Amino acid sequence: MRILLVEDEKQMASFIKRGLKEQAYAVDVAYDGEEGLFLAEINPYDLIILDLILPGKDGMSICRELRQKHVDVPILMLTAKDNLKDKVSGLDAGADDYLTKPFAFEEFLARVRVLLRRQRIDKTATLKAADLELNQLTHEVKRAGEKIDLTATEYALLEYLMLNKNQVVTRTMISEHVWEQDFDSFSNVINVYVNYLRKKIDAGFSKKLIHSIRGKGYTLKE
Ligand code: CA
Repeated sequence: MRILLVEDEKQMASFIKRGLKEQAYAVDVAYDGEEGLFLAEINPYDLIILDLILPGKDGMSICRELRQKHVDVPILMLTAKDNLKDKVSGLDAGADDYLTKPFAFEEFLARVRVLLRRQRIDKTATLKAADLELNQLTHEVKRAGEKIDLTATEYALLEYLMLNKNQVVTRTMISEHVWEQDFDSFSNVINVYVNYLRKKIDAGFSKKLIHSIRGKGYTLKE
């Protein structure tokens, strides 16, 4: 899952980015409103975290502009002000949720997870494909009941494949949702990680779940 964070306070931005990366999310950061809006328009993010007061363009305007352009990615707004009027105008501008700084990081992560699940029919934290299970809350992965240890990148890749199970996932889609802005999708990094995953998920099982689709990409088939 790839997240855009628009936050001008450098320390706050790096604190949030680090915390999100520990949860295996790919995070791009914009330090001003103009850059934030630009990135939000050109990249297919799964979630945008938007600070309210920003240089260049404020969070409220960015939110309104994105919704006018029918960019319907979930938006979590952050602000230092605990002000009912701001909260209401933020939600009216098209934000999905609102959090006042300072916040407890656990609560912040819980809201991030809820927003990322919003578009799914199954709102539980466990993704399933055949006998493979992935828990988005604990990051625990099991096949046939046996725990599998994955690195953060392997986890992020598997989560994305499972969210799109039985569909073809192209290398471009993977590079856009699993890796960050400056990732080179023409490198063979994706192949390398898919092979790591195969070894951990499919080796030793007669039923293979991860398949290559020649010239297209990959699919996780149930
Ligand atoms: Ca700010």
